[in-house]
Amino acid sequence: MRYSTIFSKTTKSVSADSESINARLLVQAGFVDQEMAGVYTWLPLGLAVLRNIEQIVREEMNTLGASEIFMPSLQPKEYWDTTNRWEGVDVLFKLKSQTGKDYALGCTHEEVVTPLVKKFVQSYKDLPLVTYQINTKFRDELRAKSGVLRGREFRMKDMYSFHTTQEDLSAFYQKALKAYVRAYNRCGLQVKVVQASGGVFTQNLSHEFQALTDAGEDVLIACDHCEFGENSEIATHKAGDPCPMCKSTLVSTKGIEVGNIFDLGTKYSDAFELDFTNEEGRRQRVLMGCYGIGTSRLVGAIVEASHDDKGMIWPKSIAPALVHLVRIGEDAESVAAADALYDELRGAGFSVFYDDRDASAGSKFADADLMGLPIRLTVSKRMLAENVVEWKERTSDELKKIPRSEVLATVRSNA
Ligand code: ATP
Ligand code: MG
Repeated sequence: MRYSTIFSKTTKSVSADSESINARLLVQAGFVDQEMAGVYTWLPLGLAVLRNIEQIVREEMNTLGASEIFMPSLQPKEYWDTTNRWEGVDVLFKLKSQTGKDYALGCTHEEVVTPLVKKFVQSYKDLPLVTYQINTKFRDELRAKSGVLRGREFRMKDMYSFHTTQEDLSAFYQKALKAYVRAYNRCGLQVKVVQASGGVFTQNLSHEFQALTDAGEDVLIACDHCEFGENSEIATHKAGDPCPMCKSTLVSTKGIEVGNIFDLGTKYSDAFELDFTNEEGRRQRVLMGCYGIGTSRLVGAIVEASHDDKGMIWPKSIAPALVHLVRIGEDAESVAAADALYDELRGAGFSVFYDDRDASAGSKFADADLMGLPIRLTVSKRMLAENVVEWKERTSDELKKIPRSEVLATVRSNA
């Protein structure tokens, strides 16, 4: 990606949403643009991060044997009447067609996936079945002031599982829980697994996945060592107590909910009469679980968890590019050398963001810090004279000179 070819630019002007760090940094760095409260355009660099996160989530869901689909956001009122949620869900956006028909804009998809699966499931042989999508959700949130953490239009991965027995559902639920933790960790985020009800890691439950940062809206009692956490509202432990799982010390902390999984039982299969024929030929209700990850909220949560006073600090696994190539100087020699390095790194399969603009070294370095890509490489006339490239990692202040012939190998060993 060349800076000169993307139209988004960094900006010094602080966004109207400046009370939230993620909104300020993402807007200043040109990763997103705010259309209105809670609604954002994902610009090229922000979209690259979002896509990287969604790809990691997709891979982890595929590992569970789930198949990806894409469901409509435009949903008929009848489905929402069937579950009594047309009136019951306060954040549901509702619209009317020119013929007077009522529709919902999907804030979740149980109302679509349950009748969908009913068309395909007849017998126990058709189950278990697990499907997911990564899609845009709409919620009429009263407070949309935390940047991409709370959107009125946002991205979510939602997965739905369908089972013949509670044992099967519970076993899958535990596998999904582990896949969730893996997905967050691969995105460079540590999470606490917080039980929303019942005992620790038992069945018929709901679990939240909480990223610990001061920007969080939820107050938790969490272990400073392992994954254990509880929402303070329902906590059976208090700060200072030993952790029930690893005996380390529990502390009080704030969290951002980046995911939520539910054992739904027969709530939606009852509403839609989703049955299967069991081995004795009798009709039986299908059991369901649902599993959500807020992928756009994750982008904001990672910014909140990983930044400094100069800007964002992206984990390598989700950075918009691994290398931020800075060219200082407009002379033919510097241009040719930087172009050649850009081609060489890309040719070897590395993602590179190339600042090929005619701008000062100071503003290019400030942009590099703000954008937060993992490795900054600088090509300049002075470096060319020494046949070196300057190397700096976003997480360190150290500047190194790398012989030009060793740059590719050094990038490779740091990828
Ligand atoms: P919250 O309590 O934060 O309003 P929720 O519990 O209503 O969220 P769920 O229905 O559990 O949200 O949705 C699954 C996931 O989608 C959440 O864990 C969160 O990561 C994400 N999410 C929910 N609402 C929003 C939103 N308004 N903007 C961005 N992400 C959201
Ligand atoms: Mg939730």
